[in-house]
Amino acid sequence: MVKISSLVSLLVTVVSCHAFLPFPSRTFTNNRGSRQTVSMAEDTNFEGIDLARLLGSKRLSNIKRKLRRQQALEAVASEPEPAAQTASKKEPLGIIIAGAPASGKGTQCEMIVNNYDVVHLSTGDMLRAAVAAKTEVGLAAKEYMDSGKLVPDDVIIGIVKDRLAESDCKENGWLLDGFPRTPAQADALASAGISADCFLFLNVPDEVLVERVVGRRTDPETGKIYHMTFSPPDDEEVIARLVQRSDDTEEKVKVRLEQFHANVAAVKGSYESIGIDIDGTKKPADVAEAVSAAIKEKCGV
Ligand code: ADP
Repeated sequence: MVKISSLVSLLVTVVSCHAFLPFPSRTFTNNRGSRQTVSMAEDTNFEGIDLARLLGSKRLSNIKRKLRRQQALEAVASEPEPAAQTASKKEPLGIIIAGAPASGKGTQCEMIVNNYDVVHLSTGDMLRAAVAAKTEVGLAAKEYMDSGKLVPDDVIIGIVKDRLAESDCKENGWLLDGFPRTPAQADALASAGISADCFLFLNVPDEVLVERVVGRRTDPETGKIYHMTFSPPDDEEVIARLVQRSDDTEEKVKVRLEQFHANVAAVKGSYESIGIDIDGTKKPADVAEAVSAAIKEKCGV
């Protein structure tokens, strides 16, 4: 009697499970005393009855296949959309800012770093730090810098490439200030597969630059830059501790400008499609506005 009722209930279940997915399951008490649910398709022995024999193995495999397909579909549906993942990932920015000595790159770099959270890489600052620390690079660069000349390409290219490969630059993006300054430096970046999103060029005539350079002073305590005529500090104490960069003299700025003019056209030529000229003679805040507009146009942020 028990066997016949089991068989009837099994047949009803089998017919229903074949026709309607998901596949039914049964719950029983296992040998550790806890309740366990088993899919009937996986349980070929239902109260001693072999489902494979009852349904035929082909039919049973069809049912199992349907069940697996449904489980796979459910798993895919619960995964996050790949398109949504891409949209939320921010591509790090690569910005190059160029211009003659004292064209205002430093001031604009401060604004760019604050607004776009990129890593500021000033080759001038990196080389001055190397000179101060008397590293091998510093010793090689010192005499060139003291005379206002460019340091050799092979000295600076390696430093910049290594720095750009560090994780902060890769994750947050970068702002190159003072590099590339020669066609060889631009080529080295391209060969290393490093490409920028925009190339900002601050345009200032030479006569304005010379006046800016010779009056430029730095506060060694805060790093803030002043100009003795255009923006002197109010505080006498600050005035007393100001220092002048050793290459900010009229004689040396002339050499620096010569070097700049010898290379600028070729460097700009390497970045024609992403380049924007900005009038650097305006007030710093107005230049900053033009810089932000240029970044928006070229980088879309
Ligand atoms: P500026 O742009 O006012 O000349 P920087 O602080 O950018 O000043 O650079 C100071 C000096 O560092 C340069 O005169 C040059 O000797 C050296 N230097 C900086 N960047 C480079 C570079 N990309 N290639 C060669 N020399 C460089």
